Amino acid sequence: MTVSVLSPTAKLLRQLVRIPSVNPHGQPGVSVSETGERACAEAVGQFLRRAGAAVALQEVLPGRPNVIGVFKPRGKVTRRLLLAPHTDTVSVSGMTIQPFAATVSGGKLYGRGASDTKGPLAAMLRALREFTVSAAFRRGGLEITFAGLMGEEAGNHGARAWARQGPRYDLAIIGEPTEWRVVHAHKGCAWLTFTVSGRAAHAATPAAGVNAITAATPLLLWLEQIMAPRLAKFTHPSLGPTTLAITTISGGTKDNIIPDRCEIHADLRYTPPLTANRAARLIRAGLRQRGLRATVSVNSDNRPLHTPADNALVRAILPHTRGLTTAPWFCDAALFGARGIPAVALGPGSIRQAHTAAEFIRLADLERGKDGYLEILAALV
Ligand SMILES: [Zn+2]
Repeated sequence: MTVSVLSPTAKLLRQLVRIPSVNPHGQPGVSVSETGERACAEAVGQFLRRAGAAVALQEVLPGRPNVIGVFKPRGKVTRRLLLAPHTDTVSVSGMTIQPFAATVSGGKLYGRGASDTKGPLAAMLRALREFTVSAAFRRGGLEITFAGLMGEEAGNHGARAWARQGPRYDLAIIGEPTEWRVVHAHKGCAWLTFTVSGRAAHAATPAAGVNAITAATPLLLWLEQIMAPRLAKFTHPSLGPTTLAITTISGGTKDNIIPDRCEIHADLRYTPPLTANRAARLIRAGLRQRGLRATVSVNSDNRPLHTPADNALVRAILPHTRGLTTAPWFCDAALFGARGIPAVALGPGSIRQAHTAAEFIRLADLERGKDGYLEILAALV
């Protein structure tokens, strides 16, 4: 395929893929200069400004801003919509293609972020540019904010910052590759740490100490056989049951010392109305009852998303999509949902492509996504 036949949306996507914006967390697989969202946010800001938006960068972490563009109608604002894809990508380590070449071949555009989530981002931007020059938009009461959020792939700092600072939107649509289905619910994900204490002693005289590792053994079995089934009773009609899985264990310092500490980490995937803190309280109560000694802490907690399927605006956009669904993954939508904003994820491209070694998006899907966002904007005005 030659350059001349690329659509404006495909050209914009190619431009965005060619701007590295790798999340710096962990092992990004690129030099420091290719990490962070600033260059991508600036390019998006320029596009938004040319399209007529009032644009601002919101510095969330040093060199890592959100980019915010607001499109106001001429008349009185009666409804507020947020369109919010993220601008960062995951690491390029292990990729088998040039991550930033944005090569087009066989009707696909290849590169890091092509699906997750610069494809949905480009489709949203082009739809906004076409829609906001229409008479329907100018005469209507819909105010549209576009937020290019930083840091979605680790920590969700961008969404946290904008959910705190932005207005109370009537609907937030988070741009993710959902195969053009509306994701309205996903589980919460919390990481728990169980610490068992003992008393160190020379291994030649084990009776002089208290072995934290052996003391942790009944706890492990109890967590898996008693507590996990108890938590599984918190279940959701489409997301399924809450799960608790032991994932790492560490303890002891040396071959000849009785270990005085053992730490167990577990992954909790929970559904409303259960919360991570409530799960921790239930576990603590169970431990006391059973006479097991351990402290329980919640290390990180990403809340579930559960926007009601009968929300009026969700119902308004649904006919223009491939239907309602739930997802096993976590995304920025939950941060807005936690602020009481009805939030869903929707975009072209597939999550099966996200984070892969030869990531791509089908150009036909990208185009349908742009047209789909356009239909949705017209339905919400
Ligand atoms: Zn994503």
